[in-house]
Amino acid sequence: MSVQERTYIMVKPDGVQRGIVGDIISRFEKRGFKLTALKLVHATPEHLENHYADLKGKPFFPGLIKYMASGPVVGMVWTGLDAVKTGRAMLGATNPLASAPGTIRGDYALAVGRNICHGSDSVENAEKEIKLWFPEGVVQYTNDNEKWIFE
Ligand code: UDP
Ligand code: MG
Repeated sequence: MSVQERTYIMVKPDGVQRGIVGDIISRFEKRGFKLTALKLVHATPEHLENHYADLKGKPFFPGLIKYMASGPVVGMVWTGLDAVKTGRAMLGATNPLASAPGTIRGDYALAVGRNICHGSDSVENAEKEIKLWFPEGVVQYTNDNEKWIFE
């Protein structure tokens, strides 16, 4: 089985402070994704401006950078079938008020500016984000449960 699509999922500072890291990891594990990289890091504003470069110029950009730099985040790479789109579906909508219950944001957040978790929005951006957050590379390994998750 070689399902190689990867996504970058990041628990934001509010998710770390509120103790939701374990639940978010657990949801991706239980869904059948393979944990491929994981780190806790207090990112600099420069690094975050790079991560969110597409949003530079938006009115909420300065507040977003301040929020994201306000404490450590947990960055992760998850690998599996349709990882990017499925990861976004598990997150819910950008505005938590529009997120269905059962999604991460729909279960834990109310405000768009404190929405707990990030997920890549395209395969191309996922690969860019993985390079940015894990320049040292990720661990290659086989998860022996794959035969129970994939046909
Ligand atoms: N954001 C915000 N106000 C807005 C839109 C976005 O504070 O009106 C923040 C929010 O934390 C969001 C992040 O900026 O998660 C990145 O925005 P994007 O549109 O990429 O949403 P996402 O991909 O995170 O769902
Ligand atoms: Mg985005």
